[in-house]
Amino acid sequence: MFSLFSLVLSSVLVDGAALALNRMQANWAKAVLGCKGAVEGPWPIWLSECGWDQRLGMLMYERAIMLLARLQVLPMDHPAKILLDVALSSNRDSWATVVRDHFMSRLFLEVVPMLSDVFTPGEIQVARSSQHAREGLLDRYRLRWVKPILRGFDQDALANATFSLWPYLDYQPDIARFPDELLEVDWGAETWTFYKIWAVVKAFGRWPFLLLNCGELPRLLSHCPCCGAPSADIIHLLSDCPATWSLYAEWAVSAGYAVDSGARLPWSVLRLDLFANRVAFLYPDCKEGQGRIIFVGKAISLAASCFSSSKLEADIDVLLHSARCSAPLWVEG
Ligand SMILES: [Zn+2]
Repeated sequence: MFSLFSLVLSSVLVDGAALALNRMQANWAKAVLGCKGAVEGPWPIWLSECGWDQRLGMLMYERAIMLLARLQVLPMDHPAKILLDVALSSNRDSWATVVRDHFMSRLFLEVVPMLSDVFTPGEIQVARSSQHAREGLLDRYRLRWVKPILRGFDQDALANATFSLWPYLDYQPDIARFPDELLEVDWGAETWTFYKIWAVVKAFGRWPFLLLNCGELPRLLSHCPCCGAPSADIIHLLSDCPATWSLYAEWAVSAGYAVDSGARLPWSVLRLDLFANRVAFLYPDCKEGQGRIIFVGKAISLAASCFSSSKLEADIDVLLHSARCSAPLWVEG
């Protein structure tokens, strides 16, 4: 307990500790999704797409609040309990008063109640009598009172982070854990590249060229790398670009849509079919989920390949032009 005590003590009282932890976690999420160093996109959305349902800063607050509760239900003659009572009754600031008077009372939209607010003196007395009773009461306190309030704070951060241009909350309305079943899927060598492509497109609606080492994360390209259409965005690639028709048709047939007419689903329908809900796509048939990820993954890979080629050609043109301009100087030299 005392190693945990000192760890929490050393972190929660540092100004900006929660923010620094959240920033570090967001950088992990970007790295996991293959976009290390990306500057685009709000942090909570990066975390959400990794299935991390709690920000590290919130975890730090949870640990601090639970440590305070744990000390409160120790036997009355336990040295840590005696020290805690002195700290809480003093008018001087201490770790315990900061947790009680700031974190629990003012930091979140809802006040986190103290143990004595939600349990009777008799229940607390029973908890003091044995380790087993103590753990049971603390579990109830954490699950019934602490976690829901902190989770609501994380959920609000996610809701505030979404943006109207690409309505992420339409696809992932709640914070949800990464389903373990996903670890079992195998679509061949490109499985996780396709998953990451799909996740980044789902999160931000941007061309994920950073992930494929051929650019950044632009929202709009001056022209489609596949067909040359002007002002091309992801919506064009997935719902309109002639170069991705065969990929679309393959997906649509597997998803039970007719493709005889040559027309695609309207974007308002297609976007939800392709991106809605990370968890649900595994049920009842995970092949449907795989199909949409493979369609998006292959379409983006095709675009990235065309984008790299056109970039290479443009670079060669620039070199040739530069060489032509320099030629007279070589002759004169
Ligand atoms: Zn196109």
